[in-house]
Amino acid sequence: MPQELRVYNTLTRKLEPFRPAEPGRVRMYVCGMTVYDYCHIGHARAMITFDVVVRWLRETGLDVTYVRNYTDVDDKIIARAAEAGEDPLALSARFIEALDEDVGRLGLLTPTHQPKVSEHIDDIIALVERIVERGHGYVVPAAEGAEGHDVFFSVRSFPRYGQLSGKNLDDQRAGERVDVDPRKRDPADFALWKAARPGEPSWPSPWGPGRPGWHIECSAMSMRYLGESFDIHGGGIDLVFPHHENEIAQSESGTGVHPFAHYWMHNGHLTMAHEKMSKSLGNIVRIRDILDEVPAEALRLLYVETHYRSPLPYSSARLVEAMAALDRLYHAREVLAEMASRPPAASAEELVRDLGEPAAQLHELASRFPERFAEAMNEDFNTSRAVALVYDLTRAVNRFGNNKKWRKRSAALAEPALAAFDLAGRVLGIGALEPEDWFRQVRERRLRAMGRSEAEVQALVDARVEARKARDWARADAIREELAELGVVLMDTADGTRWRMRVG
Ligand SMILES: [Zn+2]
Repeated sequence: MPQELRVYNTLTRKLEPFRPAEPGRVRMYVCGMTVYDYCHIGHARAMITFDVVVRWLRETGLDVTYVRNYTDVDDKIIARAAEAGEDPLALSARFIEALDEDVGRLGLLTPTHQPKVSEHIDDIIALVERIVERGHGYVVPAAEGAEGHDVFFSVRSFPRYGQLSGKNLDDQRAGERVDVDPRKRDPADFALWKAARPGEPSWPSPWGPGRPGWHIECSAMSMRYLGESFDIHGGGIDLVFPHHENEIAQSESGTGVHPFAHYWMHNGHLTMAHEKMSKSLGNIVRIRDILDEVPAEALRLLYVETHYRSPLPYSSARLVEAMAALDRLYHAREVLAEMASRPPAASAEELVRDLGEPAAQLHELASRFPERFAEAMNEDFNTSRAVALVYDLTRAVNRFGNNKKWRKRSAALAEPALAAFDLAGRVLGIGALEPEDWFRQVRERRLRAMGRSEAEVQALVDARVEARKARDWARADAIREELAELGVVLMDTADGTRWRMRVG
């Protein structure tokens, strides 16, 4: 039995055994995007991180309720809409649609619930009322230019404030800026409810027309779907302070229930290497632009190759490496499919005995894969180690598969290796396609980037076959050169000449 799952909890700064409050069930909330622009590669890191977390929890048999919100009411949205002369909610609706499109293309699981702030104003108002009633929030007249009242959270009323981020309220005073809102009791107090300003979206409330503060949104929406205490709260590392610190303070103050969330998980930063990006990729950061250039699996692989808590260096060179790695992986899958298609001629043990080390290595890596993969994933979702196992198996398959005679009688070795790739495909979302779909995706994108069509390449390939038949070697070689310049790799097989696009 592999060891039980351990999760790094930001709250305790320790790896802890993962024990959901209700055995067999996991309740998980992840902060979603503030929808005022297209999704970029930084957002994708959080989404892919927690997608893999959910996939692994489900793979181990847990019933996961996964909530990821859309923040569609926010200062940034209002500012962007004002610039564009657009209604803020129309602007956010537009970017929610774009986000859903990107999420679909990335192959991410659809969360169980995807609440929008604009549809949970009643829940938010009810929570703010509870916080005020319990003496943790206070109501002040709106600042000049706004109508009604603001409601602030009193950080001093919550003794555990700072437990998540390790920040101390008194230390913060030193660096405090002078232009603190005089209506606040403490400079660190934050808005639960903001009084309406002209042109901003607003809703009626006990404090006059207004809108929620950012932090309270996630508290109200997570509690709505998961209850007052749940298992995992996730998000990017930049959300630890103040967003998650404030979420804990206001949630536990409003309900009196501790803890609001048992495990706080945070993915690390994504860093852009200061490099000149390749011409084909350009200097792009939007998910949709990258997915026009490379298949989604290449991007996913780039993310899961790094442990989720480590900084992730993003570069187009790494994306090209991921493409090449997937090419090798799908080549291995093709080899295995061919092996599996033959009638079983011998047992795995007989093959290992007869064919020696390459067979033994393939057998060992494939049959022990599920256990090693589980060990890696149970160690705080160590996808980096899990990917290394996939690479080891890929190498062993390709090494073994080089021997065409062996392939014909080794169906027994193929089955566990195919099962291993399927497991990695389900959990990591890589290697999950049919090989021909992968090679087609690569081909289509490369040809599009070069302004060439498949038919043109096929015509050249056919012309070379004709030239060879006519023993016109000079012409055959010239065509091969031309194809090589296009990045076309030719494979002369018994069934004729096949071709594929080189990556990079
Ligand atoms: Zn949030």
